[in-house]
Amino acid sequence: MTAIATIAHRLYSVSQLKLYEQCPLRYRFYYIERLRPTYQLVESFVGARVHESMEYLYVHLKNQDLRPVADVIQFYSRRWEQMWSSTVQIVNQRRNREWYRRYGEKCLRRYYVQHYPFLEPGIHMIEVEWPFQIVLGPEGRYRMRGHVDRLTRRDDNSYVVHDYKTSQYVPRKGMLARDLQPGVYQLAVRETFPEARKVSVSWHYLASQQEIRPTLSANQLDRLRTKLVRRIDKIEQDQEFSPRPTKYCRNCEYKQICPAQNDITSRTTSRAKSVEHGRLSQSPMTQPSDVDAIQDSSSALSWEKEVGDSAKEKHHVAEKKFSS
Ligand code: SF4
Repeated sequence: MTAIATIAHRLYSVSQLKLYEQCPLRYRFYYIERLRPTYQLVESFVGARVHESMEYLYVHLKNQDLRPVADVIQFYSRRWEQMWSSTVQIVNQRRNREWYRRYGEKCLRRYYVQHYPFLEPGIHMIEVEWPFQIVLGPEGRYRMRGHVDRLTRRDDNSYVVHDYKTSQYVPRKGMLARDLQPGVYQLAVRETFPEARKVSVSWHYLASQQEIRPTLSANQLDRLRTKLVRRIDKIEQDQEFSPRPTKYCRNCEYKQICPAQNDITSRTTSRAKSVEHGRLSQSPMTQPSDVDAIQDSSSALSWEKEVGDSAKEKHHVAEKKFSS
């Protein structure tokens, strides 16, 4: 069997492609070696609890059952207590567990008040937490998977993909244009519902109550298909998966085992010795903040090899939902 044959029909996600672009070595640790952190960042935890509470709200709504806000918050609080464990890690020492719990609650309350009573004439709920796959190349060679938080259809047969964001930060236009996610959502809906007259994407920033629509034109979607195929090819042809040190290293879960970071640490140690001996020279890789970031994270983190596939991207997906 050829190398290509063995990787045919492999499924990719937007998170996978993004992670590879950030750093091929981080990608290798996560997706190929399946080294999974045994901790979960609190931002990821909050994102997961808010998303499942939104799902709770909309699954009931789909059955014409509008739950009161108190009920949604009760669901959220119950899940928070059930799921919280010592593996949830708070990095920002100025905030505590309660701050994050309230943050998630505020997101839900604000969204509820903003959209109550959730009845929009001419708009129909099609899917809640909709998993999809798209085929990009001949013979299904390139495939992508993902899931949509919610999908609605208007009377005029136009579809809207809704995605919830728990980040406080709303990206600027330039960053949105580089994001693969909205286009992949559009492709998924177009492929599954060919009768759709128009497909748009709506991102709901729950904390700031902002809604943005990063929708791509037909030409942009065509270019996106080519781009996705190229990116998958690049991953599959990579023999090295070399480290790519950037600002993302600060939050990388593999810093302790990354050879590039060992280089930085040893250069930092030499620099410290130079400082001691009054021979300090300027170097962008040895700023104190970089050193602090490495030291801060090193003590509490550990990994386990994930054998199965089911837990797969949950950590990354939820984290992405909080931070993207
Ligand atoms: S620490 Fe930086 S270079 Fe190393 S794997 Fe992580 S992101 Fe890549």
